[in-house]
Amino acid sequence: MEENAASGLREQQLRRKRIKKIKSTIVTGIVIWILTTSILTVTLFVKLLHMEDRLDELAKSVISVEQVMENQQEKSAASPKENAETLDTVKNGAEEDNLLKEGQTQKVYLTFDDGPSESTARILDILKEKNVKATFFVIGQEDGESKELYQRIVAEGHTLGMHSFSHKYNVIYESLEAFSEDMAHLQSYLAEVTGVTPEILRFPGGSSNQVSNTDMKEFIRFLKEKGITYYDWNVASGDATSHAYTPEELVQNVMNDVGRYETSIVLMHDSSAKSGTVEALAPMIDQLKEMGAELLPIDENTTPIQQIPADSVD
Ligand SMILES: [Zn+2]
Repeated sequence: MEENAASGLREQQLRRKRIKKIKSTIVTGIVIWILTTSILTVTLFVKLLHMEDRLDELAKSVISVEQVMENQQEKSAASPKENAETLDTVKNGAEEDNLLKEGQTQKVYLTFDDGPSESTARILDILKEKNVKATFFVIGQEDGESKELYQRIVAEGHTLGMHSFSHKYNVIYESLEAFSEDMAHLQSYLAEVTGVTPEILRFPGGSSNQVSNTDMKEFIRFLKEKGITYYDWNVASGDATSHAYTPEELVQNVMNDVGRYETSIVLMHDSSAKSGTVEALAPMIDQLKEMGAELLPIDENTTPIQQIPADSVD
């Protein structure tokens, strides 16, 4: 009997031990599982954040490629000597006529491409504060905020110009048909939103851009038929270049070139990435006013600055 009781007790002890062991195995398993999943979650989260950063970078680099393209045109406009010889003759003649002569009042037209953007409202605030009217060559944006910005541009007395609806070089410059469709789309859209039909345009990349698949003269001929005037620029702030100028340098770039001309059309960009432009604007306006320049919005009296003069196209 005692032996039996003793062996029963031992078996019970053994069972308890086994249960204890199983329990601790389960607990250890759960702890390991929790730890592993936590580590995995954190790792995945970090990877996700990293991927978002990469995506942002990628988006930025796509934008900067577009801007580098525009910048190439910008450079050739700022220094005509770099342009193709065929263009030089016509352009130098036009440029010479525009060189500042004694006693002339300088006319400066500030222009902003690529808006509306997150910077537009601040640009408009500064222009209002400084009592200056400018010109905006806009693209097509259909959200509510952008619609209000188009309306504000018009309501505050600035000139609304067209830049293209899509701003995609490979689309708009594919053919005259594609270009005219894009332009008609933007023109009717802006008329619907603001009540004003824009009659001026700036070609993305300028009229002498080297990216168009179609001879730019075809588009120029078309615009002449439609009674639309295109404006390039003879002064560039450099805000679309791959070099990140400080706001002070952007002002200096403009001041350096404006001094040479009777009429200066200044290229700047209204884009979310261009906070330097916003910061440069007030000091730029102050310095231009100090030198006695008239700051004007483009209108029918403005001398067109054209890299390919419209007169040279039949
Ligand atoms: Zn542009």
